[in-house]
Amino acid sequence: MTPEDLERAAGDSAVGGVSAYFDHAATSWPKPTGVVDAVVRALTVGGGSPGRAAHRLGLEASREIYAARTACAAFLGARRSKDIIFTRGCTESCNLMLKGLLRAGDRVVVSSMEHNSVARPLAVLARLGVEVVRVAAHENGTMDPASIEAALSAPTRAVVCQHVSNVTGTIQPIAEITRIAHNAGAVVLVDGAQAAGHLDVDLSQLGVDAYAVSGHKGMLGPQGIGLLYLNPELEVDGLLEGGTGGGSETVEMPSSRPDRYEPGTPNTPGILGLGAAVAFLGGEGAAQRDQEQLLTQHLHEGILDIGGYRVSGPAPGSPRGPVVSVVPDSGTPPELAAWLDREHGIACRAGLHCAPWAHETMGTRDTGTCRFGLGYGLTETHVDMLLDALRVYRS
Ligand code: PLP
Repeated sequence: MTPEDLERAAGDSAVGGVSAYFDHAATSWPKPTGVVDAVVRALTVGGGSPGRAAHRLGLEASREIYAARTACAAFLGARRSKDIIFTRGCTESCNLMLKGLLRAGDRVVVSSMEHNSVARPLAVLARLGVEVVRVAAHENGTMDPASIEAALSAPTRAVVCQHVSNVTGTIQPIAEITRIAHNAGAVVLVDGAQAAGHLDVDLSQLGVDAYAVSGHKGMLGPQGIGLLYLNPELEVDGLLEGGTGGGSETVEMPSSRPDRYEPGTPNTPGILGLGAAVAFLGGEGAAQRDQEQLLTQHLHEGILDIGGYRVSGPAPGSPRGPVVSVVPDSGTPPELAAWLDREHGIACRAGLHCAPWAHETMGTRDTGTCRFGLGYGLTETHVDMLLDALRVYRS
């Protein structure tokens, strides 16, 4: 997209009553035009059933899904495209890695910053006999690898940690945690919902065993698509059984990836939209990612300059994901979010953001926070608009 396209997108959103969209941590909006085109194309000219037909529309859909899988693998630094499993979103990816792996009697160590996409499946697994050991993060949201190491004194099947907090933007030291966990014989399962598309995620460097990705946040794809990277060495059980388009003579699921984890007709428009999003992120979108970092720091520092807001998470100037969460000294986070929407057409989100554990860690369990999630399409003008509004609210 050119700067003119971005201006047009911002203009279009004003038509819809939103002058600045700061809810990217929930879902990115608007999407790059290439993503929209790919979805429309899948619904119009290319809509055959992938892997299930020998006619040209079916074959073309299979080929395009393969290309999207390969593009996602390359973008995330995965060596083999078949280790990329398409899912309905990061929630399903987290369920697959946790419920597919953990069994009664297993022990799992988990960070205190996790989203309910991890906390809730773990609650179910705990009822089935999995021992869940929660390790407290620092008040700025950072997991200290030494605390993880201390928690690994008993035999442990897995360490679960998110890459970036959806509440504070804190970036966790995943490579270090992975080294420690592997030394202790535990596998590492990561919720990368707020990292993929915002940070440069290189799975070959991180060395994790499973990495869950949301397709519709920083990855800029449509809602309803996500993926799970599974290390070639890690075998987990699938969540579902059903048709895969091949080996139909047996009631057993195929053992090969990705089919064994992807029964049923796939979300072809979503997958092709995600493929187009990855092409964008690897091309002109790279500059947008750098810009995101600058805008996040600008917003954080600007809020501190205004005063009257408590900002959660890392100190200004430290690396963070594009999320800034605040609690106003006067009024509540929901009141602030409602006022920003009503008076200024600024979209953001207030509450616990599906992450009560993180709020317990930060001391914001009772109030929640008002969260500004930055991303594609936002410019300095939008950030200044938000800062001006926050100045007025405080006065
Ligand atoms: N994990 C984290 C940290 C999130 O912020 C979210 C979404 O808010 C999810 C998981 C769930 O992602 P999805 O909407 O793709 O299921």
